[in-house]
Amino acid sequence: MGNGSTAIFPIQIWKKKRGVNYLPGDRNYDLYQMACKVTAKRFFPNYLNLDATYNQCDKWKADDPKRYEYEVATMGCRTRVFENRFGKKTSIGRGNLSFTSVNIVRLAIECMSIENKEERIAKFFEKLDATLAIAAKQLHERFNFQKTALAKQFPLLMSRLWIGSEKLKPNDTIESVINQGTLGVGFIGLAECLKALIGKHHGESEEAQQLGLKIVTFMRDKCNDFSEQYSHGYAVLATPAEGLSGSFTRRDKKEFGIIPGVTDREYYTNSSHVPVYFKCTAIEKAKIEAPYHDLERAGHIFYVEIDGDATHNPDVVASVVDMMDKYNMGYGSINHNRNRCMDCGYENADKEMTKCPKCGSENIDKLQRITGYLVGTTDRWNRAKLSELNDRTTHSL
Ligand SMILES: [Zn+2]
Repeated sequence: MGNGSTAIFPIQIWKKKRGVNYLPGDRNYDLYQMACKVTAKRFFPNYLNLDATYNQCDKWKADDPKRYEYEVATMGCRTRVFENRFGKKTSIGRGNLSFTSVNIVRLAIECMSIENKEERIAKFFEKLDATLAIAAKQLHERFNFQKTALAKQFPLLMSRLWIGSEKLKPNDTIESVINQGTLGVGFIGLAECLKALIGKHHGESEEAQQLGLKIVTFMRDKCNDFSEQYSHGYAVLATPAEGLSGSFTRRDKKEFGIIPGVTDREYYTNSSHVPVYFKCTAIEKAKIEAPYHDLERAGHIFYVEIDGDATHNPDVVASVVDMMDKYNMGYGSINHNRNRCMDCGYENADKEMTKCPKCGSENIDKLQRITGYLVGTTDRWNRAKLSELNDRTTHSL
């Protein structure tokens, strides 16, 4: 942007597709290489993997100029809309209507007093089942309110953008078309939930990973049941939890006190991610988190934190995209450091920089990613997210 500064909004997304732009020899391979170079310096683009099994569509043809109609799209932060119970499988002309997140950590804490492990886990699933039913009902009730809105309240969206909206008259309600949208059932803190249930999170033990997959698979299956029951498109969301991450934790800490590995930080871990403080390589992280992407059809994201200056090494970006390709992940993004002197434009990747080495100015913009969007200053972050930022470890490639 102006004077070469980084554009922080909107998020640019690169759609990676074999046969188009991923392998050497693909017609747009050169653009892919350039995209990696841009990410290494500017954080964006993020990468959307059109080759993931669940991101494919039978109707997609490489030589069809309208193939984009059959490609998945995601909102920058992660929200994903693609499957459609009520029409064409597309991301165009549709959107997510609402989502509600379940505090699975709290459900697990409530079961901690049960000594027998099998009984404890069984009780957790019983509670999860009941809570998901409430979330689905609440989303349905909200839908019933949303559908009473009139087309004229959304002059652009409900006259030409949304699927079917062209047939609506200004005073019609949007009821006949709104079910093209999706309802998300989200969750945060799978890591803390597993700690509470069996003492280890999914980065630490295979048993925890299996239980984690069982929990999110259960949520996915329930969402399919709700879709039948209420006749909507429910799906599981890996909630980013910008605010929730702190508020759930504060509430639980107040009620249950400090439980090591569960409520002893200011935040709960983002969705099904391994905790930001957990030391592992990027590949280990990819292997653990990948299988959740297929289950989280309302949105998911894979983050890798890299250390130092990536600008001289765009291959690290390509190697993260390779992991997404190899492990069937849907969407991913790379975090690193980027400082910019607001007075002279000097840039570097030094995490500790507080003063411009070129002109001495202390007016430094430090680019950082909160849960998807970039911010140049951490002044307005909430305490929980600041605490998470401080805990973030880097992942070696
Ligand atoms: Zn300067």
